[in-house]
Amino acid sequence: MAALDCIFCQIIRDKIPSEIVFRDKKFIVFKDIHPKAEIHFLIVPVRHIESVDVLKKTDKALAGEMILLAQALAKKFKIQGRYKLVFNVGRGGGQLVEHIHLHLLSGWPRVGK
Ligand code: AMP
Ligand code: ZN
Repeated sequence: MAALDCIFCQIIRDKIPSEIVFRDKKFIVFKDIHPKAEIHFLIVPVRHIESVDVLKKTDKALAGEMILLAQALAKKFKIQGRYKLVFNVGRGGGQLVEHIHLHLLSGWPRVGK
């Protein structure tokens, strides 16, 4: 899919509204429109990359930063120790939007301490 037709690129360009929880030069994070948990954020690089399948070695830092951003958001939203990170990869893996994104899900009852 070309970046022009991409719904997440349109969110990044503010052409489509979304509930943004974080943004900087490299990433945007917004609430999933059909949340599957109390907290369901999508961590999306500004650069249009289709999926994990096409990540290159030169994207190593970007891929790591996505996970560290998830960690920082977990701290900010006080869900440390009780969240899920999910990459759906390709149609067969349940990926509907062909712009790489990391799902951050939480909202289950706290277990343990
Ligand atoms: P995936 O199936 O991994 O490609 O996930 C795509 C996610 O994007 C789904 O959970 C959708 O609910 C979500 N989504 C699609 N369109 C929008 C939108 N305009 N704003 C927020 N989330 C969206
Ligand atoms: Zn895109």
